[in-house]
Amino acid sequence: MPIKFECEHCSQSLEADDDMAGEYIPCPHCERLIGIPKMSLPPAVTAPAVSAPPVPRAVTMPPKAPQTSGLAIASMVVGILSLVGGWMCCGVIIPIVAIVMGHIAFSQIQRSPETMTGKGMAIAGFTIGYVALLLAIIVSLVLGTAAASMTAILNEFTKAFGQIGVPQR
Ligand SMILES: [Zn+2]
Repeated sequence: MPIKFECEHCSQSLEADDDMAGEYIPCPHCERLIGIPKMSLPPAVTAPAVSAPPVPRAVTMPPKAPQTSGLAIASMVVGILSLVGGWMCCGVIIPIVAIVMGHIAFSQIQRSPETMTGKGMAIAGFTIGYVALLLAIIVSLVLGTAAASMTAILNEFTKAFGQIGVPQR
């Protein structure tokens, strides 16, 4: 059970393992010497340490509630938009935007998972982006091929009619 207490100098909320009770440590917030109470609140008002020198040990501040990465949300939204229709009008640009934003958001969250969440959304963002990019490439290939074969067919018709000398009927 961690002991919860407040720094007697700056009132920062702190937590320490109960095997550190009674020790004197520098406050991680204001760096002044504080005694760790034997139990959680109320904080013990102890006399400043005259005895043991402070042992540098880990005292952590309770983590703040992590926030969802805005970039991860944006990546997922843009990814979905690109999948729904972005590839029809703007080709590969929108999927690439979703992929880039997703990867940036993902690495930011990896680096500081205690302050940011949304890894799932970032992964969804770049995954959907890749799918949309693939779709965009396939669509442009299919359209390009179709256009090319249409031209070839028309050319053949024109040539054939030209040779027969019967332009139309
Ligand atoms: Zn303090």
